[in-house]
Amino acid sequence: MLALHGKGVSNGIGIGRAYVLKRERLKVPEYVIPDPLIEDEARRFHEAVARARRELNEIRDHIPSEAPMEAASFIDTHLLILSDAMISEAPVHDIRAQRWNAEFALKTHSDRLIGVFEHMEDPYLRNKKVDVAQVVERVLRNLMTPEDTGDEPIPEDLTGRIVVANDLAPTDAVALRNKGMSAFVTNLGGPISHTAILSRSLGIPAIVATHGATRFVAQDDELIVDGKRGVLLVGPEPIVVSEYERRARKIARVQRELETLRASPSVSRDGLTMQLAANIELPEDLDAVHEALADGVGLYRTEFLFMNRSAPPDEEEQFAAYVKVVQALPGRPVTIRTLDLGADKRADIDTPITSVNPALGLRAIRLCLQELELFKIQLRAIIRASAFGRVRLMIPMLSNIDEVFRVRDLVRELQEECEREGAAFDKAMPIGGMIEVPAAAVSADLFAAHLDFLSIGTNDLIQYTLAIDRVDDSVNYLYDPLHPAVLRLIAMTIQAGQRQGIPVGMCGEMAGDSRYTRLLLGLGLREFSMHPAAILEIKKIIRESTVTELEHLTTAIMEARDHRARQALVEALNGDGDETGADEAYR
Ligand code: PEP
Ligand code: MG
Repeated sequence: MLALHGKGVSNGIGIGRAYVLKRERLKVPEYVIPDPLIEDEARRFHEAVARARRELNEIRDHIPSEAPMEAASFIDTHLLILSDAMISEAPVHDIRAQRWNAEFALKTHSDRLIGVFEHMEDPYLRNKKVDVAQVVERVLRNLMTPEDTGDEPIPEDLTGRIVVANDLAPTDAVALRNKGMSAFVTNLGGPISHTAILSRSLGIPAIVATHGATRFVAQDDELIVDGKRGVLLVGPEPIVVSEYERRARKIARVQRELETLRASPSVSRDGLTMQLAANIELPEDLDAVHEALADGVGLYRTEFLFMNRSAPPDEEEQFAAYVKVVQALPGRPVTIRTLDLGADKRADIDTPITSVNPALGLRAIRLCLQELELFKIQLRAIIRASAFGRVRLMIPMLSNIDEVFRVRDLVRELQEECEREGAAFDKAMPIGGMIEVPAAAVSADLFAAHLDFLSIGTNDLIQYTLAIDRVDDSVNYLYDPLHPAVLRLIAMTIQAGQRQGIPVGMCGEMAGDSRYTRLLLGLGLREFSMHPAAILEIKKIIRESTVTELEHLTTAIMEARDHRARQALVEALNGDGDETGADEAYR
């Protein structure tokens, strides 16, 4: 038996025979097209794009009825990328102007686009490069013959098979799922890629980043995929298989229990109600919010509306995007975060973001307060959207209380302007701020005194507190949500909000990570905002927790001697009363 390790991205156990998807890395040909054949080459390119569009529509039309709405939106993302001018038009220009062959023209333009995403700080955005690469590969395969690509046809029936591949696009994952795939393992990929997210919502056990599974697994090998621990077993002994079969049955039972919680309230054993909201990037994410029955949106990352375009969206376009979300969630709060561009979250629009140390430079609210015209357009769109529901405006990356005063003044000025114009808005729209810079956490009392709510952004708070670049692999091992400095800053922020009588939420990744739920409850957190797919698991933990009993245990964690001791105490905290927990099923 051979054991390979990667990143487990979708819980569950898969047991079955391997289908190794052999796809060679494409070697893109480069040659010059003779003048008389240039229009034929342009036509060949258009046909390949049109065929890719037909293929995507075909996959979309055959999504299993039980698949989540997300599955279709992944395919829509690919269709959108396919329509991007950089992919579908710019290559034609160079076929004509440079006499490049279609494959080379496409590769050149897509590499540029991928380069833009590669330099983004936000891991979610950085992962978009994967989608672009997958769409481009689809078109390239349509341009090339099977002899050129070395592709083998995929069998129609893959029932119960575990697919092992170099990489999979979300669309591939859906297409393979349609053929019966039960789990998958890839050499490449990351935990927040679309494929990983999709595998979680489709409930397919999956491991990515195995760095070479395709080299060690032969066609038809017997495999076990442990999607939680990220372990792939090749050729397991019968005794190991039966142990994993037992675990698989237990996990299936836990999952069925989670589904039954969908409509249950997020109330702890001692009667405390928690808010479980969703993080979204675009109005398209609404389906997942509905699916999870989230208590509103705790973080709407509006910068996504500004990406992949040369001019920023105007007021009407932004207004429409905000109203769409607000109207879809009547009675539920929608927290619209103002533009968090900067650092590596770049857009093509013209902004003065230049710094040798961009994470500490002109980012988020700093950029907006410098680019007032851009900012005012967004503020007006948010103010007008507030007439349609419970809009909360949230300011990112606060470090100085003056930033709050300036935003408040701007909002007041623009509300007066709207009033003069006769535009409706909510005069009582709450204005809150993100606590994600240590200076803001340490002086959270000052911020709490002038804001209507706070939201802790642990992704940046950890980065800035521990002085580690959140995208730099070489210091990733230091990224520790349990570091005492981080926990103290979280506790200080929550307490500052409690003293001031304003709500404090958390919208960083830590809020959706079940390992920290009890700790955060013990620290006094009552509002969690996360990826919609995490809501049920967090709800389950809340419903099985007695919050008042957790409080003194969290003090012990804060005072623990070192990381190991803290880790052990957190595990003990999670073990308590978690008789049917998802974690326990893996033991
Ligand atoms: C955070 O920093 O925790 C956060 C939620 O914001 P973002 O990840 O968009 O920087
Ligand atoms: Mg942040």
